[in-house]
Amino acid sequence: MYDLKIVNGTLVIPGTGLLRADVGMTAGIVRAIGEDLPGAHETIDAAGKLVLPGLFDPHTHIGNERSYDEEAETETRAALLGGVTTIGIFLRSLDESYMLHLPAFRRAMDERSYVDSVFHPQIFTAEQISEIPIYAKEFGIRSFKFYMSGMPGIVRSVSDDMLLDGFRAVAALGPDAVVAVHCETGALVDQARNRLKERKPEGTLADWAEAHPPEAEALAITTALYLAKMAGAHLYVVHLSSAEGLEVVRAARRDGARFTVETTTPYLGLNSHDENQFLIKMVPPVRAPHHHDALWEGLAEGNINTVGTDNTSRCLATKMPDAGLHGARPGLPVLGTHLPALLHYGRVRGVPLEVLIDRATRAPAMTYGIYPQKGTIAVGSDADLVIVDPNLEKVVRAEELGGMSDFSPFQGKSLRGGWPVVTIKAGQVIARDGRIVGKANGRYLMRTAKDAMPSLPWLHTA
Ligand SMILES: [Zn+2]
Repeated sequence: MYDLKIVNGTLVIPGTGLLRADVGMTAGIVRAIGEDLPGAHETIDAAGKLVLPGLFDPHTHIGNERSYDEEAETETRAALLGGVTTIGIFLRSLDESYMLHLPAFRRAMDERSYVDSVFHPQIFTAEQISEIPIYAKEFGIRSFKFYMSGMPGIVRSVSDDMLLDGFRAVAALGPDAVVAVHCETGALVDQARNRLKERKPEGTLADWAEAHPPEAEALAITTALYLAKMAGAHLYVVHLSSAEGLEVVRAARRDGARFTVETTTPYLGLNSHDENQFLIKMVPPVRAPHHHDALWEGLAEGNINTVGTDNTSRCLATKMPDAGLHGARPGLPVLGTHLPALLHYGRVRGVPLEVLIDRATRAPAMTYGIYPQKGTIAVGSDADLVIVDPNLEKVVRAEELGGMSDFSPFQGKSLRGGWPVVTIKAGQVIARDGRIVGKANGRYLMRTAKDAMPSLPWLHTA
């Protein structure tokens, strides 16, 4: 007798494909996949529906606008309603040791969050670099983030010498540890932003891309690859945004470089001519359509390995779209639209469903050391599952997404084929038909050191 059973659905299993089978789960774990399973206390009929592994969004920011505790609840609620059941959180402490903050961050995820989580502290100081082994040992952290280009008023750039020290400290943790890097060359971005201010005090969203030229991304990826190679670190390029950046990625792969590349659903779903204009102002920018086309190519061909959101929730009052080109602030609430946007635009682009799901589940879970507990549907895996109605079409409305925000960069768009009708987290039905019906049961995931680099397909094909 299972606690819960899903019958008559089509499972999408990364690396395996589509499979008509039932799933039985007990005590939060998948116990069986097959036909004619024994009875269950609760049975969900998923006829005509897709059953996916809960998404793992490896790239989110929590607590940038309201308190960490508050956003740990509201933004993970949006995530869960949207089919995301695990998130990676880029923690921010600009000057202080993370030892002062990690206990509270962790408590928030254990006590308030609807989803499971891993942490990637953002490294800014020599003290933080020196404490990387302590963060790893005491909090099970295996990944760290570095900004090559800061954002005025938000974060500072990290210089190349500190990058190298940091990469070495992370690499010393073991072959599974990851350096996640915001790849833009700070000096080029600062110059471009200042020149844009002089040339165009006002403008459109399309003009914003000039403040973050693609060559700044391409050059920074080149630098990061070189430093990561020197340090022996596994480089993870966050939020690839440009065709030029992708060209560097392709060339490096041809040369045998071993690294991982992410893009985001806003970059895949939106372009800079969008009618929502400064609601989608972001760093790096959502760019012109040819970049957008390149990112889809990179995703389909396997040079872009993972898809996250870069969710940084804001409300209209702090997003300030009316403040225009230079005054509107970056940051997008996009956890709730991650899966609907990925499947809608992926279908439009003709990318196979199995590939889309892999990039948002198994690939990031493998990269960050939580596979196969997360990122697949398998006997023994956590019972985090999303049932999607492939025919359901809905117009995006911020108030239905479940987060704190009063806007969405996708608002007004009609998305089809990716809306969850049920989200199961740890074997319990927590959301149904766009509403929360269960209690938050997320927890923080300690990660343990592994003695080998994960066997990521894209690291071994060179
Ligand atoms: Zn980010």
